Amino acid sequence: MNIATHTHWLPLTLALAALMVPGETARSADSHAVTLVIHGGAGTILREQMTPERDAAIRAALTQALNAGYKVLQDGGTSMDAVEAAVCVLEDSPLFNAGRGSVFTSEGKNEMDAAVMDGASRKAGAVASVQGIKNPVRAARKVMDQTSHVMLVGDGAVNFAREQGLQFEDSAYFFTQERWDELKRTQEKEKEIQKEYGSMAFPHTHLGTVGAVALDKHGNLAAATSTGGLTNKRWGRVGDSPLIGAGTYADNATCAVSCTGRGEVFIRSAAAHEVSALMRYQQLSVEKAAQRVVHEELVKLGGEGTGGLIALDRRGRFAMECNTPGMYRGYIAADGKAHTFLYRDE
Ligand code: ASP
Repeated sequence: MNIATHTHWLPLTLALAALMVPGETARSADSHAVTLVIHGGAGTILREQMTPERDAAIRAALTQALNAGYKVLQDGGTSMDAVEAAVCVLEDSPLFNAGRGSVFTSEGKNEMDAAVMDGASRKAGAVASVQGIKNPVRAARKVMDQTSHVMLVGDGAVNFAREQGLQFEDSAYFFTQERWDELKRTQEKEKEIQKEYGSMAFPHTHLGTVGAVALDKHGNLAAATSTGGLTNKRWGRVGDSPLIGAGTYADNATCAVSCTGRGEVFIRSAAAHEVSALMRYQQLSVEKAAQRVVHEELVKLGGEGTGGLIALDRRGRFAMECNTPGMYRGYIAADGKAHTFLYRDE
């Protein structure tokens, strides 16, 4: 087993649930111990480059997000409400590449993408290339709940969010010096690569998308993902995060998944759906399916260092897998305690 995989078995009270076959939908209420798993992005996260203060701040933010989502689950709320609550906390933190801490496009703007999916109904909602919306995950949820569509983009999505009364912020709210410096560094690096190789390479080391997957007491799964995308992106580039089946997926019959990494590779491998498909058609466990996608399928298309994902099944078993040196991540389950991890070998 890869050391980046964390598997959690529910307590014995759930042994009965463990006997159920994938695809089974009839459950009695209250039969599930609730579980929440989150990520705050994968990438070149190295101990030697981390200060103790930053390490502590990231763990504190992850813990806050876990506690916010877990409270919803403990109070009997739905997995959808839990993933939304957890992702909102991460979007409000400048430490992650989503909402407030979103990276800059080549034009110095913040264009954000987000998606949600409900495992019981397989209803989904997404927004892409939106500006100014404080919590894009809330806009994605509104698309799912208030329209007959799955994805809205650009100005149309922004107008819809306004109509729905969502909170907006000006560009100063989304400005972080760190992300700005990252844009300048990336643009310099890109120039060097172009001079040397004459190609349009996309230098990209630090990712930072956020996501959550949850299991509620009714046995329903949900997934949410939110991102600022890639630093220096242009031409209205959209990554995997808001694309159902690529960066986000949930199906009660298999699992809920949220991905982070070089979006193009996740899109081309339909990564989130691939985890679900391996469980459905090959009866792989959630950990085995996640390992296969992260260490084989993604690697085939993009090499090591492309990213990672979190995935959770209806028994409360989950995987947090990455092929990068690190992935901000954490879970909270039966013991009610938030567990956080930054480096791959943790
Ligand atoms: N997957 C995101 C994208 O390609 C980036 C990330 O995870 O950091 O837009």
